[in-house]
Parts: sequence; C-alpha cells; structure tokens
Amino acid sequence: MNRDEASTSSRTPARGRSTAARQHTLREYNLALVSHALFDAPRPRSRADLAAATGLTRATVSVLVDQLIDARLVRELPPVTPQRAGRPAVPLTPAERTIVGLGLEVNVDYLGGTVLDLTGQVVAQEVVPGDLHGSDPAEVLGRLGALARRLVEEVEAQDMQVAGARLALPGLVDARAGRLQVAPNLGWSSFLPVPLLGLPERLPVEIANEANLAGLAQLAAPGDAAGPAGTRPRSGEPSGDRPGSTPDGAAPPVPSSFLYVSGEVGIGSAIVIDRELFLGNRGWSGEIGHVVVDPNGPRCLCGATGCLEQYAGKDAMLRAAGIALDAPIETFLDALEAGTPSALAAAVSAGTALGRALANFVNLVDIETVLLGGIYTDLLPHLRDAVTTELTTRVLASPWTELDLRPALVADHAAMVGGARTVLRDVVAAPSAWTTGD
Ligand SMILES: [Zn+2]
Repeated sequence: MNRDEASTSSRTPARGRSTAARQHTLREYNLALVSHALFDAPRPRSRADLAAATGLTRATVSVLVDQLIDARLVRELPPVTPQRAGRPAVPLTPAERTIVGLGLEVNVDYLGGTVLDLTGQVVAQEVVPGDLHGSDPAEVLGRLGALARRLVEEVEAQDMQVAGARLALPGLVDARAGRLQVAPNLGWSSFLPVPLLGLPERLPVEIANEANLAGLAQLAAPGDAAGPAGTRPRSGEPSGDRPGSTPDGAAPPVPSSFLYVSGEVGIGSAIVIDRELFLGNRGWSGEIGHVVVDPNGPRCLCGATGCLEQYAGKDAMLRAAGIALDAPIETFLDALEAGTPSALAAAVSAGTALGRALANFVNLVDIETVLLGGIYTDLLPHLRDAVTTELTTRVLASPWTELDLRPALVADHAAMVGGARTVLRDVVAAPSAWTTGD
C-alpha cells in the first residue's frame, strides 16, 4: 500500500511531525474507507448511511464526503424527503464525466482506446481494425499513442481529467517491469511497450494481459453495482444495462469467482477468485490458448503442437470452415446459420477442443461459471453442444454439478473497458491523491 510505505519511509525525527504524519495517514485511510463504502454500495448512500457503514462519526464522514465532492469524485443527488420526521437525506453517487480512466489495447485484428468515467459510462472511444500479425511494435504503438492523445484531448476539452491508462496486450506481460515477454500472434517479444506510445509523463501508463483486463471488466464497475437506475438518474436506462453489454438487461449477476475465456485469433483467459484476479507467480496465468488438446495436432505459433488456439482460435475456425482469414467473424456465423457443412464441422471441432481444455481446468480448479467473451459470445450457441459433451465425459464431478457456461456480460472490447476500470479502481482505493484537504 503506497500510503503506508509513504508514511513509514518518510524521515520524521521530530515528535510533532510524526504525529502529523500519523494523522495524515489516518485521514487517507478514512477517506479510502468512505470512498469504498460509497462506490461499492448497491445504491446511492447518504452521509448517515456512510457513517453507519464505516463506523466513523457523522461529522468525520461529512468532512470526508465534502473532500470527495470537491475532488469531483462524488456528487450529490436531490434530497430525498424522509418518511418520518427529520432532515431530508442527500444521496451521494459517483460523479459523471469528471475523473476518467483510459483503456488501450493492441490485439491481432484491431487497436483502440476507451475512456470510462466513475459511473462506468463510456465517454470516448476509438477502435481501428487492421491485421497486426507480425507487425512492427514501434509503428503500431506509435499509432496507438496518437489515438490515445486524441482521446485525451477530446475528454480534456470537456473538462474531464484522465487519471491514467492501462495498455492491454495479448501475451505474457511482466507488469512490474513494464515488459512484454512475448505476444505470439503479433510476433512481438521482449521489449518495453509504454515508451513507444510517446505519451506525456503526466499520464501514467501500465501494461497488463488483455484477457485478465477483459475478465475484470465482467465485474460490476465502481458505482455500477446499483444498476444505472440508482446511479445514473439522468440517463434513465433500465437496470442491469452496462457499458458494452448487450441491450438485454436481464443478465444474471456474475458470481464472485469465475473463469473468463476470451476468443480472438488467440485465446486467453482470466481466473477471477473472489472478485480478484488469480495472476500466478509472475502474472502469467490463464494461457488457456496453449493448453494441449492433441499433441499430434498442428504446430502453434508458440512452438508447441496441438494447442487449443489451433482448433478454437478465430483463424483456425475460419480456415477449417474454408473462409478467408481476413473475413469478419460474421461470415462464419452466417455460414453456421445457413448450415454449411464445413462451417458446422469447424464449430464441432472448435467446441470439442474448447470443452477438453475447460474440462481440464474444471477438474483442477472447482469453478462453476465460465464466461465466454470475444468472438465466443456470439458463437456460443454453435459451440455449446460439443463443449457440454466433453465436460460431461471428462469432468469427474459432472454427475453432481453442471458448469454454468454463458456469454460474457461485457463482450465488445472488454480489455479496454477492464483497463479503464482498473485505473478507476485505483482512484477509488486511494482518493487522497485527488483531494486537497488535510
Ligand atoms: Zn501454442
């Protein structure tokens, strides 16, 4: 925790200074407590609600809430007249279009950026399709940097402030060192991507694995738990509608633990346990695309043979269906709807491979819910039977439990959404960086 490190590492020989530092840290701690209670709440809360939820006094909460309002993290809704006698309560809600997070992504067939505000709404977005197989990192990241600058200028012109950015990459990322180890489908390896974006230093950028960020995007956004009816009174959207989700607002709530599988040209996954990513020792977990389905299968770009990607990745499916690799996934979907035999066979092959990989995972890690994202969201109806057959055959516990296989809630450009939300999660967790009070 930065605030603890900051307070313990500061050299404070004088006793008074030490006391001041402790008080400073206590204020930061309490501010984060109130911030979490407000942003994680299922509906707008009043100052009295927050005092009850945090155990702080009403007076302390009022001071801290005022600081969050001044810092533009929180805003007041019109007062609600109480049913019994007393002062009207003022509901508090995450502020719209003030402090925002930027999610950037390079994937094999597009690059782009999404800006989200604290309510979880998309306030700016730009996505550029293109074939980035075997591309030049400096050229691609230079273009993405220019795109990011356009987005930042666009939102700053509307008086929004960008808290930071996350760059999602489809490969092994050493987030601490800021190094991309390898992204097989891009043909990129072993370099520092952030400097190549050429972004100003005032905008902190971190890198992360694309599937991990897309997995985090499936969790409710800060302030989004209430559903927009509570937190976004201006828009009047139906409850359950989230940025990037399908218009259908009836999606069941995502459990706190699940596996998210992202299908693109490559296949990644995010293991989410109790709302946190299980990253593994070095942050490299979730490489389900390189789980072996058949050791005698085709060669993969990673150097091994018979990886899941070689059956259920986008290119592999299009190739098996006899469709040009630069065709959009809709061409494959149309062929499936039309009952084209080669397309149906490709879907069975992909679903079988995916089912085998998932069966291995479920046998090892007893998780009940798998969310399918990327191109799998639309393909799921065509893959489900083959996947289920493999799960039933191979999961030891299958007679007593059924895997809940469902489309991802946030499907489109989920890694960008997840990246922007991660930036905002950091803002909510350490709001004192944005306040001026002491
Ligand atoms: Zn592989």
